[in-house]
Amino acid sequence: MARVAIVTGGTRGIGEAISVALKADGLIVAANYAGNDEKARDFTARTGIAAFKWDVGDFDACAEGVKAVEAALGPVDVLVNNAGITRDGTLLRMSREMWEDVIRINLGGCFNMAHAVFPGMRDRKWGRIVNIGSINGQAGQYGQVNYAAAKSGIHGFTKALAQEGARVGVTVNAIAPGYIDTDMVAAVPADVLEKIVAKIPVGRLGHAEEIARGVAFLCSENAGFVTGSTMSINGGQHMY
Ligand code: NDP
Repeated sequence: MARVAIVTGGTRGIGEAISVALKADGLIVAANYAGNDEKARDFTARTGIAAFKWDVGDFDACAEGVKAVEAALGPVDVLVNNAGITRDGTLLRMSREMWEDVIRINLGGCFNMAHAVFPGMRDRKWGRIVNIGSINGQAGQYGQVNYAAAKSGIHGFTKALAQEGARVGVTVNAIAPGYIDTDMVAAVPADVLEKIVAKIPVGRLGHAEEIARGVAFLCSENAGFVTGSTMSINGGQHMY
């Protein structure tokens, strides 16, 4: 029987590419999104993938959202925690709200969603959780103390939950993308982006599909011995 996957923030950008890649691998996919109904409708019309709206930063909404997906599609075997936002500013220009929104959605979202799906995966003795971190969580980034802290937290969250999942058939991994040509990066001023691209050894931004292929591997049967790892997909921008 086909496995069911939830991709948070799965209706556009990197998440859309992940939803499409998992569907191509034979999974039944539920793409979650926050509020952009028009994009979600367009996504479903183009891909045939069902879209479900809830805020991953809201613990109870995640529990309800997972219930709705399971009622419609079946038990969830694969979770991709991809939803994320930026609210950039240097420390003293960053309001408490900018800090809290990014921590609540980017990091809290991983906790809320894993909390909702982990019991079922544990009971069925099979699960895949992939969390989308960031190069900026590994290396830091000027003007992003909130985002870098949340993404760095995701990498720690991944290693800790991997230890809990290992004996019950649940793998937990992270992908740390470099700069990818999505709406999020389109918001970066052109002169700043030019300087960023100059530092990428392969000399270009990445494509969402290049992240999706890594996620699809980590979600596959073939990746059963890979857990607690972080796969960097960044054109060589950050190596360690
Ligand atoms: P986009 O801004 O293009 O898309 C974000 C997606 O997340 C949308 O589907 C959006 O839904 C959804 N989303 C945002 N907030 C919430 C929420 N509270 N609850 C549920 N869904 C939400 O982002 P990208 O595709 O660029 O980024 C995807 C992930 O990859 C993020 O975690 C990002 O931090 C990470 N990343 C991106 C990089 C890049 O260069 N683009 C680099 C490194 C990491 P809606 O359409 O309704 O707004």
